[in-house]
Amino acid sequence: MIGKKMEAAINKQINAEFYSSFLYLSMAADFKSQNFKGFAGWLEVQAHEEYGHAMRFYNHIIERGGRVKLEAIEAPKTEWKNALAAFTDAYEHEQKVTGLIYKLVEIARDEKDYAAESMLKWFIDEQVEEEANTSEILGILTLIGESKGSLYQLDHKLGKRKAD
Ligand code: MG
Repeated sequence: MIGKKMEAAINKQINAEFYSSFLYLSMAADFKSQNFKGFAGWLEVQAHEEYGHAMRFYNHIIERGGRVKLEAIEAPKTEWKNALAAFTDAYEHEQKVTGLIYKLVEIARDEKDYAAESMLKWFIDEQVEEEANTSEILGILTLIGESKGSLYQLDHKLGKRKAD
């Protein structure tokens, strides 16, 4: 049985993961409106992954006899100045999420909730990957600046990302 404090904290995280999904889908729509189909495709896969993260937390609460309570999801931004601005936001967002995961680990330890702590280990590792992915793309975008040719090349490369 999951404790009330952990249950409430994970319910908040479900909302944060759905917000992440909304944020990336909103970025995807913005890229699509500018014909950057590769960036959009990459972000759609990311949005789907974030939905999967929310579901992992959802299942954890339910498996342990807790109650999932969904709340309104904050509306994300709808437009970004350019790809660099979007991926600056994406990288910052992932760092923020890492902080949220670490806070959950602290609550799990305080509550001696070893089941939650074990489940959170997957998310700690996942965040290393999420930060690395967004930071790598941000690094390339910083390097290529406003070069349209290079942007289209990157768009083509990112478009190859497949759903896991
Ligand atoms: Mg996530």
